[in-house]
Amino acid sequence: MKKPTQEERRRQCERKRRYRTQGDAMDAALLAGVERRRSAYLCPLCKHWHLTSA
Ligand SMILES: [Zn+2]
Repeated sequence: MKKPTQEERRRQCERKRRYRTQGDAMDAALLAGVERRRSAYLCPLCKHWHLTSA
């Protein structure tokens, strides 16, 4: 699997929902029932948290 380019990261960031804290992101994953398949990461672009898509 190739590494995402800066451009791809930026697009992903814009597309994804942002969470203020890791807890907020994990709460959202729990509500969606996907907490086992997703994890939260701190985005270096917007300084907010996103959930991984895989
Ligand atoms: Zn972001």
